[in-house]
Amino acid sequence: MTRSTPDACPGVLRLHQAADGPLARIRVPGGRLTPAQVQALADAARDLGNGNLELTSRGNIQLRQVRDASELAGRLEVAGLLPSDTHERVRNIVASPLSGRVGGWADVHGLADDLDVGLRADPRLAALPGRVLFTLDDGRGDVSTLRGDIGVQAVAADTFALLLAGTDTGLRVTAGEAVEVMLDAARGFLDLRGSGEAGQWRLHEIPGGAERVVEALDRSPASSPLELGATHDIPIGWLDQDDGLVSLGAAVPLGTLPARTAEFLAAIDHPVFVTPWRSVVITDLAEGPAETVVRVLAPMGLIFDAHSPWLRVSACAGRPGCAKSRTDVRADAAAAIESQRVLGMALDPPPAGDDSSTTADGSRSDTPSTTAETVAAEDVRVLGRQHWSGCDRRCGRPTGPVTDVVATAHGYRIEAP
Ligand code: SF4
Repeated sequence: MTRSTPDACPGVLRLHQAADGPLARIRVPGGRLTPAQVQALADAARDLGNGNLELTSRGNIQLRQVRDASELAGRLEVAGLLPSDTHERVRNIVASPLSGRVGGWADVHGLADDLDVGLRADPRLAALPGRVLFTLDDGRGDVSTLRGDIGVQAVAADTFALLLAGTDTGLRVTAGEAVEVMLDAARGFLDLRGSGEAGQWRLHEIPGGAERVVEALDRSPASSPLELGATHDIPIGWLDQDDGLVSLGAAVPLGTLPARTAEFLAAIDHPVFVTPWRSVVITDLAEGPAETVVRVLAPMGLIFDAHSPWLRVSACAGRPGCAKSRTDVRADAAAAIESQRVLGMALDPPPAGDDSSTTADGSRSDTPSTTAETVAAEDVRVLGRQHWSGCDRRCGRPTGPVTDVVATAHGYRIEAP
């Protein structure tokens, strides 16, 4: 597959002209933010944007309706969130958020830092498309399921599987080798992709791309490839760390974090991780302060309950942010949640007042399944994980089994996975 248009992923120095104004995307390699960086982002959203931080499906952050791009770039540079003018859009690195704190074979956050430094050190790698995704999985299988282009997954304390185009190559590397092998794979991808700006954006778009990169690496596969299963175990709520401290996982409804809430996050004065599931993890808390954080932030809208219907729903930008959208899908999705039309699986407690019956397979008798017909927004009732889109592009759709709720000219079309 060869693209007919160049990759136009936004960054801080190249804004996207969205329907509601300029949009900036800020890369957060490994998802880690210091309290000062959270505060800087909150200030920027309030002073220069629309007052919200948007969490993306790659653990990055977007600001909408940016009023002064130059001022924004300057502030982010001071905060350490724009360390490179040339490589800013290629720093798409996702790491297991709980790594080094709760379970996992290895702590991959150091690898995320090293990979970021290595990317920025090679001028040629600035030519990577902004769509290329690096994943660093500590063995729990959470971020590998995002089907990145180039990644590693720990299979033992000092052994990592090399993943290319979302599958295990069978190559095994040590922690000390992992970053250099990933950088070599990125160079191999650049060698293979079509010349010019209209070449392939992702490794899987190149026929035999992963196999050809393995050949170029000149290493022999040593193991049977891992089966990378889908996991939807998002870290939410109270999470006991291995060192006796506590992490708190909090979902951000539809990925929109108000600047005021972000200021409270910064005031906790502990490291925060942005996850690719539109949530945050607040780390290294003692029990007492952790209880206080939940008491303060839950009323502000952060979700600490793993059974909340907000966790089942994602949505694209929709109107007014996207000119292609047929409607305001985020408002429609929020209304569906608030009026208890987002239905849980059989093990979830039914929402209060919901008198629909549950069938043996866990579905509900009044739940729409796949339908070519369209239904009005107020009649959409969908079971389980669902992604609402303003058009058929389905931007931001999560991986794995998800019901699509797609806006059409006459209502919503519901497509079961
Ligand atoms: S799915 Fe369509 S409407 Fe939604 S953000 Fe993407 S292009 Fe816009």
